[in-house]
Amino acid sequence: MRKINSRSFMILLMTLAFFAGLTYHTVNLVLHASEWVAEPTNSHLTDVDGLEFAGKIFDRNGVVLAQSIDKQRIYNDDEDIRKACVHIVGDNSVNIATAVQTVYRSELTKYNFTFGLGLPDNLKRGNNITLTIDTRLQKAAFRALGDYKGAMFFYNYKTGEILCIVSTPAYDPQDVPEDIETNDKYDGAYLNRAFSASYPPGSTFKLVTAAASLKEIPGIEGSTYDCHGSDIVGEDEITCYEPNGIVNIREALAQSCNVFFAKLAVALGKDKMTAYAEKMGFNSRRSFDGINTASSIYNVSEATENELGWSGVGQYTVLETPVNMAMISAAVANGGTPVMPYFISSIDGKPKNTTTLGSQMMDKEIADKLYEMMDYTVSSNYGKSYVSDKLDVCAKTGTAEVNSEGLAHAWVTGFCKDEDCPIAFAAIVEYGNYAYSVAIPMVKQVLDTAADIYKKS
Ligand SMILES: [Zn+2]
Repeated sequence: MRKINSRSFMILLMTLAFFAGLTYHTVNLVLHASEWVAEPTNSHLTDVDGLEFAGKIFDRNGVVLAQSIDKQRIYNDDEDIRKACVHIVGDNSVNIATAVQTVYRSELTKYNFTFGLGLPDNLKRGNNITLTIDTRLQKAAFRALGDYKGAMFFYNYKTGEILCIVSTPAYDPQDVPEDIETNDKYDGAYLNRAFSASYPPGSTFKLVTAAASLKEIPGIEGSTYDCHGSDIVGEDEITCYEPNGIVNIREALAQSCNVFFAKLAVALGKDKMTAYAEKMGFNSRRSFDGINTASSIYNVSEATENELGWSGVGQYTVLETPVNMAMISAAVANGGTPVMPYFISSIDGKPKNTTTLGSQMMDKEIADKLYEMMDYTVSSNYGKSYVSDKLDVCAKTGTAEVNSEGLAHAWVTGFCKDEDCPIAFAAIVEYGNYAYSVAIPMVKQVLDTAADIYKKS
């Protein structure tokens, strides 16, 4: 009897364990099946078969960027557009972590919980996805970047729609080069540099130091400094590209006087510099449409006084993503608070995003002052028509990190004042060296194309 009792008890225990396990796995399946099916390790989805019935991907104007015809994935028929959009559309594989065909693969293939991937062919139909990007701007940016590596990012600072996001080197998703893994030309080709790369921001970071100084240093707007091209800050020199003469903060930003801003960073101190940098997106990742960006980094905990000075002009160990740089310009244009960027307009006809404000980067009063200073930087330094023939653009350039051949990265960031073209942007040209003669003309090509499309008069 005792034996039967103990056997019954064991059977009961095993039955309970079986149902507990069954419940656990069923709940997991229901909660996570659509994620598992989109995992890169799922061989059903990592070859073209996974996309053979996938939905179409459109740009904002209904231009088809990718579609499945006769079980083949067909991309746009213009090679430049295919390359310009590869980092946002993706290819048949899942090599590009930020691409729609990677991140939204289960939506595109319309994974069905009941049938899994075994739905009969005649019932397979993926969701269509419409993006906010404009193919005409994509093409203009891709052509402008040419053989340079870099990224260009343009978004509507009123609505958050990303109009253009291009990263180079790119490649053709319809005909992936066989030497993509071995040829230096394609170094980092799977990386969307606008989201996933961070660079020393150089003088574009002066916008952060300026915002902090305008808020925290009383009488800063009345202060002047006579720049002779270099000065001792802390234990060593800070140098300028050339002597800037007598400058106030407005002129120092326009002429990009390093010594002036290095001294401001030291006057503010590590804690305030760090606090303002963090308000403006540093030391945290951002996430857009399910894609996590690289971090922008500002860490002066170990910095000497001289290094703190260099950090105030975007050198030392400061790093920034192009998308965060564009958001700082957007905040200036938008009274201190940026609108969050997004690139998915709708999935299966259902709107995916609404306009969302990010956290405030600076007071409106400070934003308005930087607005005027960035306006003056363009009008006094470059001339408005040099940046765009058709739009009224405010901007700041930067160069940073010289390589062994003496070449620096070239940055430009800014925004358009035009009501019908509210675009904020950032562009980085790796080893472009000259922001003025390399980066600005590239941005101009995209801005003038945008004006032709969107400007009403
Ligand atoms: Zn100077």
